[in-house]
Amino acid sequence: MSRPVQYNTHIKFAGIPEGYMGEGFMATNLEKVVSLARKNSIWPLPFATSCCGIEFMATAASHYDLARFGAERMSFSPRQCDLILVMETIAKKMAPVLRQVYLQMAEPRWVMAVGACASSGGVFDTYSVLQGIDQVIPVDVYVPGCPPRPEAILDGFLKIQDLVNAEGLRRRHSDQYKELLAGYGIQ
Ligand code: SF4
Repeated sequence: MSRPVQYNTHIKFAGIPEGYMGEGFMATNLEKVVSLARKNSIWPLPFATSCCGIEFMATAASHYDLARFGAERMSFSPRQCDLILVMETIAKKMAPVLRQVYLQMAEPRWVMAVGACASSGGVFDTYSVLQGIDQVIPVDVYVPGCPPRPEAILDGFLKIQDLVNAEGLRRRHSDQYKELLAGYGIQ
């Protein structure tokens, strides 16, 4: 006898933006629609050269399935990504390379520091290791741990999604944002 098909009734779909709804119509503003689309179609760039990268591989694989959040399309070209995930120990020699990759990303762009090394240098308090990537590029979300488990990476990703959703279309043109970039010597 065949078993009945079980459906998961807890699947969460992308939320409907605020607006006015009636029979057969919905009205909202452009900013909310753009935010909804951006939030649910992030293209991540994994910048991984050591152990934390392995955790990210698990995060993207079938069990944790990052694709559930619309982020299954890894982008290994900085020009086609929205979010860079820095997952590793960054040696000072590597810092200019990371910065160059960040500069090649188009706006709007977001940055996640994954793990203790990317966030603060981790256990490598040495002359050769950058003590946190926020010394060379601005960071939006820090994920603690050495290494962080895939659940923590997913949690960080959800926080990025919240930021993306809440960001107005004009933020990247604001004086505050220009000041932030200027603090990093970026025009
Ligand atoms: S935080 Fe820990 S696991 Fe991640 S790259 Fe550094 S040493 Fe490796």
